[in-house]
Amino acid sequence: MRLLNFTFSLLLVILIFASCKKDKLTMPDTKADTLLKDTVEAFSAPLKMDTITDDPSDPNPEPKKTEKLNYDASVWSELTKADGFALDIRYATTNNFTKKRIYDCGKCFMRPEAAEKLKTIQAELNEKFGYSIKIFDCYRPGPYQQRLWDIVPNPDYVTPPHKGSMHSKGLAIDLTIVDKDGNELDMGTSFDFFGPEAHQGYNHSDAVKRHRWILKSTMEKHGFGSIRTEWWHYSYKGKSYPLDKWVWDCK
Ligand SMILES: [Zn+2]
Repeated sequence: MRLLNFTFSLLLVILIFASCKKDKLTMPDTKADTLLKDTVEAFSAPLKMDTITDDPSDPNPEPKKTEKLNYDASVWSELTKADGFALDIRYATTNNFTKKRIYDCGKCFMRPEAAEKLKTIQAELNEKFGYSIKIFDCYRPGPYQQRLWDIVPNPDYVTPPHKGSMHSKGLAIDLTIVDKDGNELDMGTSFDFFGPEAHQGYNHSDAVKRHRWILKSTMEKHGFGSIRTEWWHYSYKGKSYPLDKWVWDCK
């Protein structure tokens, strides 16, 4: 009986030892599985749009500047992130006062003379204050102005398409200033706020007044004029252009 007990105990010890060893052996495997899973996930995760710069099928793409433009550069210039601008084209999203998407996609086109001045303004704000321009709206094609009017047929808020907006001439821009971390400066109201607080002369705090002054004085210095009711809206005065119906390509 004692021998039987001893044998049983021995077997028990061997079994416990074996199971501990198994646990020890499986630990690294589990870690390896997790690592493998993480790696697979990292490589299979969708790339962010702004990280996709070139066609993956072409290992040696031409430098951007020599690529064929899909617009007429003699009458249009595009302002992009590459020029240091932050883009938040609101009418290409539902985050605008109509709560509807007006543009098929968000791009910022301006007439070439206005675009050049905006690049100068961007560089100046950056050099003086470490600030950048954030763009809400630029050229608004005739068909998109019509869409806006169809949704909000009220001349208090939208320029009737037949009359034409400076945006549809490619000369107006809606913009604000962001700091080096991308945070918008306090301008007293949000973009497209309709009310006296959005007016240029409204008696806001000193900080708001200073922020608006930085924007206004820099824009005016480079040939842009403001309007009384919208702190974010500026139009280039240096050259006139007709209303346009051209719509940019979304590809
Ligand atoms: Zn505007």
